[in-house]
Amino acid sequence: MNADTARVQSKEEGLRLVLAARGAGVRNQRVLEAMETVPRRRFVEALFENQALDNTALPIPCGQTISQPAIVAQMTEALDVGPRDKVLEVGTGSGYQAAILSRLARRVYSIERHPPLARTAQQRLRALGYNNVAIKIGDGARGWIEQAPFDSIIVTAAAEDLPSALYEQLRLNGVMVLPVGRTDATQTLLKVEKRPEGPSYTELALVRFVPLLEGVAKE
Ligand code: SAH
Repeated sequence: MNADTARVQSKEEGLRLVLAARGAGVRNQRVLEAMETVPRRRFVEALFENQALDNTALPIPCGQTISQPAIVAQMTEALDVGPRDKVLEVGTGSGYQAAILSRLARRVYSIERHPPLARTAQQRLRALGYNNVAIKIGDGARGWIEQAPFDSIIVTAAAEDLPSALYEQLRLNGVMVLPVGRTDATQTLLKVEKRPEGPSYTELALVRFVPLLEGVAKE
């Protein structure tokens, strides 16, 4: 198997992503291990392959982006995923964040509004052997009611407010991580915990994400 088709990344490649995560303050060993092993190269377009290990967001089809590795690691750490957890992701994109989560959770459900992205991500994850990820085409702001409640929910596109359907589908004491704010400006990455007395908010960072849009995109 040559480097292009390798299902894992080399130690050297992995350490570049681990360094980016550590630079953002991530210390959780399980998260760092996932960053080290999931081959980010396999989630970017051929044109950007030589930048796959850089700590930057990169363009993917349908005008979307694969997030910066440091942010992926930071959001994943904030979710505090346990090995028996069921996690929902809104915004599958390239499938990279879902792959990272698949190493940490029992099962990952991910929703994408662009059909071509959803199809490519599902094929990619299957080819890499990440078999505990289910992807569906849909409006992620509505959640995935058949699979609710979730132990944690991650939204990788920015909304102006916390989508209420997602909060409802989070289990009690579950964690949700999402960028909130106007999409033409910097947004705040929020950690929301569902407490018996109501939501508890922690601001994690300032970020820039593509917008959370309504409905399914036309092919
Ligand atoms: N997590 C992705 C990042 C993708 S960028 C990765 O690891 O590559 C955000 C994605 O959210 C885009 O693919 C965009 O199409 C998708 N998106 C935006 N609004 C959405 C919605 N309402 N439902 C589902 N996906 C949505």
